[in-house]
Amino acid sequence: MQVQLTTQQHATAQVHKFGGSSLANAQRFAAVADILQQQNHQQALWVVVSAPGDTTDALLNIIAATETQARDVALAALQAELTALVQQTLTADGAALVIEQLQQWLAAVPDALAEQQHNDVLAIGERLSALLLSEVLKQRGLNTAALDARDFLRLKQHQPDWTASAALLSGLTQAERVHVVTGYIARDDKGRSITLGRNGSDYSATLLGALVNAAEVTIWTDVKAIYSADPRKVKAALPYSQVSWQQACQLAQLGNPVLHARTLSPLTGTATALLVRSSYQPQHAGCKVVQQDNAAPERASQEKAPQQVAQQGFITELDNVTLLTLHRDSSISAAQLALELQQPVIALPQQGDNLCWLLPAVCAEQALDYLAGLNIHAVWDTQRYYALAWLKAGAVAHTDTAEQLLQQQGVLHRYESTQQLIWLLAKPLPETALEQLHRCLIQPQPVLQVVVAGTGNVGAEFLAMLGAQQQRFDAKLKLNLAAVINSRHAALSDSIAVSNWQAALAAGVAWNTEQLAAYLQALPAPKVLVDITPSREFATLYPAVIAAGCDIISANKQGVTLPGAEYQQIKHALAQHQRQWLTNTTCGAGIPVQRTLQELLSAGDSIDEVSGIFSGTLSWLLCQYDGSKPFSEFVLQAQQAGLTEPDPRDDLSGKDVQRKLLVLARELGLTLELDDIALQPLLPAGLEQGSWQQFWSQRATLDEAMAQLFATAKATGKVLRYVASLTLAQGKVGATVALQQVSVDHALAAIAPCDNVFVIRSGWYCDNPLVLKGPGAGRVVTAGGLHADLAQLIHQLIGTATLPAPLT
Ligand code: ASP
Ligand code: MG
Repeated sequence: MQVQLTTQQHATAQVHKFGGSSLANAQRFAAVADILQQQNHQQALWVVVSAPGDTTDALLNIIAATETQARDVALAALQAELTALVQQTLTADGAALVIEQLQQWLAAVPDALAEQQHNDVLAIGERLSALLLSEVLKQRGLNTAALDARDFLRLKQHQPDWTASAALLSGLTQAERVHVVTGYIARDDKGRSITLGRNGSDYSATLLGALVNAAEVTIWTDVKAIYSADPRKVKAALPYSQVSWQQACQLAQLGNPVLHARTLSPLTGTATALLVRSSYQPQHAGCKVVQQDNAAPERASQEKAPQQVAQQGFITELDNVTLLTLHRDSSISAAQLALELQQPVIALPQQGDNLCWLLPAVCAEQALDYLAGLNIHAVWDTQRYYALAWLKAGAVAHTDTAEQLLQQQGVLHRYESTQQLIWLLAKPLPETALEQLHRCLIQPQPVLQVVVAGTGNVGAEFLAMLGAQQQRFDAKLKLNLAAVINSRHAALSDSIAVSNWQAALAAGVAWNTEQLAAYLQALPAPKVLVDITPSREFATLYPAVIAAGCDIISANKQGVTLPGAEYQQIKHALAQHQRQWLTNTTCGAGIPVQRTLQELLSAGDSIDEVSGIFSGTLSWLLCQYDGSKPFSEFVLQAQQAGLTEPDPRDDLSGKDVQRKLLVLARELGLTLELDDIALQPLLPAGLEQGSWQQFWSQRATLDEAMAQLFATAKATGKVLRYVASLTLAQGKVGATVALQQVSVDHALAAIAPCDNVFVIRSGWYCDNPLVLKGPGAGRVVTAGGLHADLAQLIHQLIGTATLPAPLT
């Protein structure tokens, strides 16, 4: 399709289409005006309107009336209703003008009917909406003009005439910022009024979107999303926030009312986005109909990550349909007939030499006449059917149960293709059966609730990365940020926009343990707490958090190093509630040391020794120290560079390394306590006491000890390293943390100043150990490591995504 675009000035236009229910009364008009006022003021606004409420139905009844008297009564009733609408919507002055116009239009109806100009009559509804809304917007100070789409929109044999339409449109528009355009109506190439079929305003909107090269077309309706089934009938219907273009087309072809059959075609292959939103819940982001990037090549090159849209499951119904059978060589397609009838015509999978088409029973005779005119012979099965179509979303369990259920309801025909299954029944399904069927056939997309505690350096980085991860997993699982907590405040809301977490937290409340536990308990599973706090107190909440059904991901080292009894409580809670605790970042930050140990063990290896350098601070100090200056000067330098704890003696004490060795020991299933690990501090005895000044005055003790150790090591060609080591030889556990001399060819000798190194000796890696080396601290690598844990959890969840409950 070739779209002739209008002038450059519309390059950033938006199109907003409002359906009849969004314009049903004065309040709805006000709500629509509110929505429009909130749009980006830099962009031109094109608004497409349907007739108010049920006006089109009323006009169709007037057209269908066989007696003049009945027609006049209906006309008078409509006039009264629409006059009241205008009066309630506008101030008296503005109303008078619109009412006068309305009276003129309605007064011309009898003549139009006499001349069979039915489409001029039908146009009244949309013309009134456009005029009324433009007056409302003018009263609010917006520079607005109303446009009759018949003044520019041209269709030739049901196909848009882009060139003529674009030329007419650019001749019409001036500098107004808002144009309110009638939906549903247009003209053919002979200049006659035509309509675009019931609910055709959606199609008007996308035609206009293509004409003005809109950035976005938003279809404002009365539902906040495209649902898996009619939400009025199926309470559990899923509101999808994204639907693929291809599935939306299929839905439209099946006559699903959410999108008119032709809505998508003008935008296919363009960069214009299509959204479905509710004018009743404008705060809700709605549903995006997403073109895969192969359909929009110009966009693919602009965006880095190609968009993946999951295939969703849908159930859609069509009542009062009938079957036409044609020979497969007939020179017409179902789509052509659908265009002619302006009704859905569904091509069922071919049966032998025959084509089988399903179409609304009301237009069967019209269809036969039309086909006869083309010399095409069709056989009409006059039975009226109720059709139920299921758009599949990949492999789904429980179809047997669904088929059984439908057999009980008396299925007469069944047609299956790889993407759809259509059943024909004699009568509509009762709502309970429809709900049961929905349970069998529609897989809820799993949602993982993510609760983030701790918003310091690493926490903020983790949240900054979360948005991209949401996108990455979007096709399979929704990652929902359900709380952000720091030591003072908590934002407890299951719909926090990741980009907006700071504001959500600022608006948060002070929290206490009970509140938090109750909130976590109430969150739907699956759910995970990501603990990025340094808090021991927070780690003691883990058993309660686990009992509330959460998995836990910790960067917080406190939990994994609690005294054995408390640690075991956590382990028991995990076993009891079958939850997981991922702690890869508690030792070596993002370096996957715990994960590697787990993998070796689960693959059948046995670990003999884990040793290495677990402190980036001590690693730096010992790499830098060359005996040229006192050791304490290096300590000062590291402190100033932010490489140490606030009091560097906390690093020099070796306690941090001792804790990390405990983490690894516990990872290997050993029941060790901190005191079981022999610790030889780097700091000579006594210096750990007292103030920093006191220490500083005695620093010579440290400097002398280090100088001597350094000289001894150097004399034998060795270097000093602060080494943690865990040995498991012959069932005997040895755990030590001490300063060691290692030869220059040792795995621990050649390292970058802040590196952590983990040397694993195992049954498989015995002579030449497995070595993991790299930065063992830092904002980005730690946040990244937390996301690696989260991704691991997600992969497990996707693999075992909860199946719908079996039928009762
Ligand atoms: N007013 C027309 C109808 O009711 C067109 C529309 O609503 O989109 O079908
Ligand atoms: Mg409508």
